Amino acid sequence: MTRQTKGIILQKRDFRENDRLFVIYTEDLGKIEAVCRGARKIKSKMAGHLDYFSVINFMFASGRNYFQIAGAETENNFLKIKKDLVKVVLCSYCAEIVDIFTRTGQSDKKTFALIKELFTIFEETDKKNVLFFYGITKFFILKLLIVLGFSPELFYCVKCKNKIKPNKNFFNPILGGLVCEDCHKVRRNEQEMRDIQISTSAIKILRFVAKSDFQKLLILKISKPQIIEVIKIINTFLSAHKDRELRSEAWVRKMVRVCG
Ligand SMILES: [Zn+2]
Repeated sequence: MTRQTKGIILQKRDFRENDRLFVIYTEDLGKIEAVCRGARKIKSKMAGHLDYFSVINFMFASGRNYFQIAGAETENNFLKIKKDLVKVVLCSYCAEIVDIFTRTGQSDKKTFALIKELFTIFEETDKKNVLFFYGITKFFILKLLIVLGFSPELFYCVKCKNKIKPNKNFFNPILGGLVCEDCHKVRRNEQEMRDIQISTSAIKILRFVAKSDFQKLLILKISKPQIIEVIKIINTFLSAHKDRELRSEAWVRKMVRVCG
């Protein structure tokens, strides 16, 4: 049986003598593992289409352990990402995050659409500094975590359940959302000690990112201290949910330090 669907390559590695194994996020099948036979041979016609940061039209055949790639044709190869080291590093980081937070065989069109939107924004946006793209990357991560069911609570205190008022508030990544000042004062255990103070403007930005389409985020006017605060909050939220270090994270940190 064959299946046709669009997909984005998250990871690839050599497999057997001449083959290559791909981890692909597809529009219709979710994350899958697929083998391309003969992909490491110089004359492989398909290998040229099996590139990172591309939307590819795939034809898959069912195999015993893995899908077989029976056809691949690039639909959009996002050339401006591939020519820009900052974009390459950040998109690789996002691909790794998608890979560790998703399981194979669970179909989810929203995740696919989100990755495609990220690539489109990176492709179409120029003349911005590293912090801009780093911020977009973090917005992507927050939106991805929400799509995957890890929504942070941004309207009510996670402890007393009262509505958050615009004064001194905190974010607790372990408890998964905002904590009001009254609850912050009566911290008892280690989890509750993880509160980080959060400004009212950062709360507003997080709410906007959580509910808005990706493209709308481009019109956000955010100052440098605000974006740095929001990035810090999203980083702590991500750390609370991931169970291992990301290979690409060291590269991202280094790049932001050098260029940011
Ligand atoms: Zn409270």
